[in-house]
Amino acid sequence: MTSLKTLNDINIKNKDILLRVDFNVPIEDGKVGDLTRIKAVIPTIEYLRSQGARVALISHMGRPDGKVDARYSLRALIPVLHTLLPGVGLTFRENYINIPRAHFWSDTNRGDVILCENIRFHAGEEKNDMNFAASLASLADICVNDAFAACHRAHASISAITNCIPTVAGLLLASEISAIESHYLHAAKPLMAVIGGSKVSSKIDVLKALVPKVDILAIGGGMANSFLLAMGKEVGLSLVEKSALPLVEDILSQAKLHNTEILLPVDVVVAAELAPGVTSTIKTIDEIGPEDRILDIGPASVTLFNQAASRAKTLLWNGPLGAFEIEPFDKGTLDFAQHVVKLTQVGKLVSLTGGGDSVAALAKLDLESGFTYVSTGGGAFLEFIEGKILPGLAVLSQTSEKIQVK
Ligand code: ADP
Ligand code: MG
Repeated sequence: MTSLKTLNDINIKNKDILLRVDFNVPIEDGKVGDLTRIKAVIPTIEYLRSQGARVALISHMGRPDGKVDARYSLRALIPVLHTLLPGVGLTFRENYINIPRAHFWSDTNRGDVILCENIRFHAGEEKNDMNFAASLASLADICVNDAFAACHRAHASISAITNCIPTVAGLLLASEISAIESHYLHAAKPLMAVIGGSKVSSKIDVLKALVPKVDILAIGGGMANSFLLAMGKEVGLSLVEKSALPLVEDILSQAKLHNTEILLPVDVVVAAELAPGVTSTIKTIDEIGPEDRILDIGPASVTLFNQAASRAKTLLWNGPLGAFEIEPFDKGTLDFAQHVVKLTQVGKLVSLTGGGDSVAALAKLDLESGFTYVSTGGGAFLEFIEGKILPGLAVLSQTSEKIQVK
């Protein structure tokens, strides 16, 4: 068990707290598109407030590259926070670096919340700059990191700040780690992993980490095409990575070595192009022609994946099985997800998922709540599964001697 310093290890009564959250949410027409990440930290905010703490929310959004960029202003979140924190005193601070602490908290009471402007408007954040972190830290007594989705970044408000003030994991971060540890690292076996998405190269580290660990590895989405190509199949105009073929060979030979069952699509949905309303056809993997584009797994493949899931006790899923953004290429993902939800609901399967597009696909299909655990982490979730030491977590397990708050 990763031993993280948590809110149980620190006295937060009546303290001023910087709460690092991940509010990197999609904004559409000035409105927040998906509230999942915001809702996920509300319990932490409420807990801190219940202890008389004042809470300053620190987050990044998008990639403004150290400059002020109105497209990425966290102001867009104010109405949402008012709704999710009814009756709570909420202030927005545009400027909070090199500002006296008393000035920063002026006109606030215990239990109030300040939302700070996008931390990535400051170049010091992504540089993990110590002076920048010190300036931020001077505003509060304690920093609470509840930004699991940003823990794979050694940025100032995640990493350097831990050298300036006591920093502990928040409720969401702690629950993410314990869920992934109990459901994946200590998974009930057989353990099945399903990996989809567009490219082998972006998932190669996770595939390598999964092969020795899982009993069944099912591959779908665009990345399955490179596996089919390696098996000598025609893939037509499908998305493939010829340069990934040695990686595919390596995965297949590792699977043999570790006795890991590899499942690949046996049929696919093809079309001439990826566009709405295009005519699509189901083909077996031996029927694919030179003009075909593989855009989803077919019904026989779904059955194959479903049967494997029925044999498993734990399922880890990352990456959509088809180009789910455009119908009907969401069908493979939908049908498989429905089966997983059914098995989960009758207590036969523990299901765990994470990844930006994976979670977006499940949210689009309204199946998110049927999983045992949906991680708020994308890159961080994958890196954790890969066994990498996340910089944001490493610093939280090293803070034991510094836990006294003055
Ligand atoms: P995640 O963000 O969950 O880690 P990825 O970013 O790896 O997932 O992959 C998601 C993308 O993969 C989606 O945009 C989806 O359209 C694309 N994709 C899945 N299957 C195919 C396919 N057969 N052809 C082209 N793109 C695909
Ligand atoms: Mg993605």
